[in-house]
Amino acid sequence: MTRRAVIVVCDSLRRDLIAPDVAPTLSALMAEACAFRAFRGVFPSTTRTSSASIATGCLPGTHGLLGNTMALDEGAGLVCRSVGDPDFRERMRRATGRTLRVPTLAQRLADHGGAVIMSNVSPGAAYFHDPDGWGWVYHRAGSYGPGLVPETGERHLAIRIGAEGDRTMTARFCDEMLRRRRPAVATLWLSEPDHTGHAEPLGSPAHRAAIRAADDRVAEVLATVDELAREGEDILFVACSDHGMETTRRTIDATGRLVAAGLKTAPDSSDIVLAPNGTGAVIYAAPEAQDRRDALRRFLEGEDWVGRVFAGGELASLGLPVDGPVLLALTTAADLAPNAHGVPGHADIVADPESAKSYDGFGQHGGLGIHEQSPFLVIRGGGFATARATAMPASLVDIAPTVLRHLGHETAGMDGRPLPLEPPPISPP
Ligand SMILES: [Zn+2]
Repeated sequence: MTRRAVIVVCDSLRRDLIAPDVAPTLSALMAEACAFRAFRGVFPSTTRTSSASIATGCLPGTHGLLGNTMALDEGAGLVCRSVGDPDFRERMRRATGRTLRVPTLAQRLADHGGAVIMSNVSPGAAYFHDPDGWGWVYHRAGSYGPGLVPETGERHLAIRIGAEGDRTMTARFCDEMLRRRRPAVATLWLSEPDHTGHAEPLGSPAHRAAIRAADDRVAEVLATVDELAREGEDILFVACSDHGMETTRRTIDATGRLVAAGLKTAPDSSDIVLAPNGTGAVIYAAPEAQDRRDALRRFLEGEDWVGRVFAGGELASLGLPVDGPVLLALTTAADLAPNAHGVPGHADIVADPESAKSYDGFGQHGGLGIHEQSPFLVIRGGGFATARATAMPASLVDIAPTVLRHLGHETAGMDGRPLPLEPPPISPP
């Protein structure tokens, strides 16, 4: 029997927003399949880091992609760059000699059935699923096959971000990838409800419609998987989100605050570089500024927009590197107050000087807030228990090893581990 894995990611969908009225397919799936109710994301809880973590089974400190933005030294000192830009992976390769430091699923499976991803999120998030071109990546900014050979013409994925593009992409995913090409791992990464959640209040009619649209896409993939299962395929089906969202409370010019406090020379100086990641931030230091760590920490811990500061060994517990230029990381202050639509959880965000968009009152993520760290994970097939809900710890980095075990491959070198087929059930109250 052919073994395959199919992964669907509903970007940003919070576990607590999956309800029968707005997400009937996922609600039913959570009840009928194996639902991991303590599933967590990585830090920073951004789509680009999450994409690399799902692909490698490793934490950001291990794979090396440290946020939606990160500092690189391209020869003239540390500069903060957006990982979302299509040219970031080339910049990273030139600055560090490589892209990700560990193999992706696409690399591990290149000679074993291969991997395909169709993604409608940012170019950086799509490309960091398979940055070196071991498999196929389909994205509106450019599609590539093995060796990063462009997929052009009809083979390119010419869609727009949002629900309509997700719909077009899903139809092609089911027909071409699942029914015809049949790679060992096929991943579909929907832009909703993330795209709408960043532009509308969480729980608003528009946001709920975006959740419903993502749920409809999951239903289409499930129907195709069921059809293939009836033909005798042994398919591990994984549906998840990469992180959740909090409602933005205030936007803070954190870099300006550091400059005003005398802890950074100028907004664009390379001594101390703060990489904004929504409700989180990573602070890098040039070698001559590493001794500012304690002063920075004291300053940040006195700021009302800062939730928690991490330094030294605490960075390792967050899954960040402890060697190199990363000096500190922070998650912003948060509260549990509901927004106007009854969705709980607000957090301050760190301003991104490269982005003019305002997120105030809308969804954002990147830190360690309760809701942004409560994505969902449900697994069906591959021998997983049915009608099972478990509270055992599980993380984004467990997806890749779980997929590899199903396909009969080694999982050495991963931070995650294959999830048990029979996880302990949540005991009845
Ligand atoms: Zn997002």
